[in-house]
Amino acid sequence: MSQKSEQGTLYVISAPSGAGKTSLVAEMLKADEKLGVSVSHTTRPMRAGEQDGVNYHFVSRADFEAMINRGDFLEHADVFGNYYGTSQVWVRETLAQGQDVILEIDWQGAEQVRRQMPDCVGIFIVPPSPETLKARLTGRGTDTREVVERRLNEAADECSHAGEFDYLVVNDDFAVALADLLAIVRCHRLRMQAQQARYSGLLIRLSERH
Ligand code: 5GP
Repeated sequence: MSQKSEQGTLYVISAPSGAGKTSLVAEMLKADEKLGVSVSHTTRPMRAGEQDGVNYHFVSRADFEAMINRGDFLEHADVFGNYYGTSQVWVRETLAQGQDVILEIDWQGAEQVRRQMPDCVGIFIVPPSPETLKARLTGRGTDTREVVERRLNEAADECSHAGEFDYLVVNDDFAVALADLLAIVRCHRLRMQAQQARYSGLLIRLSERH
């Protein structure tokens, strides 16, 4: 019999850029109020339309390095020349409150999280074909060939780690990919261990002999 309050599940979601990860996660949050997403810290400059504290906590390299030294991060990585990291305290406290948490991080961060929290669920999202990826990454048409090539190579590096994750979602049709992601979450909530914690009283009553 366990009186311990139920711990949330940690979902680690990675993808090459151009796979639609951020839009899919935003829709997952709208569809399921029991899901929360961790807001990472980063040293990269803010892009147009982004908000500090919403998309990221934007910090200086000196502040980020001080946070590394204090052990504030559950994981952190240098991604394409900028630091990115996940707050240790926020993730652990939110999971302890029973809330499910999504981390949208790269494969290096996923590897670190897997080592520390082996119960986490890894999901990798890919586009349906290299041609689609290329079209999505060159969409703006304003970037130089070098920039486009660099992005494609970064995407290829990220994809070479797909096999380290538990689930693969192909984002061809957005609605189908979203349904797949929500199905993974639903499935995990129905696992026996989690259900036993929720329904221990029911299972005891149902098992009573007459
Ligand atoms: P962007 O700068 O385009 O928002 O993100 C670039 C990459 O950094 C993406 O692959 C994204 O998943 C990754 N990223 C964002 N936040 C974190 C984080 O906290 N930790 C790690 N390791 N990667 C992150």
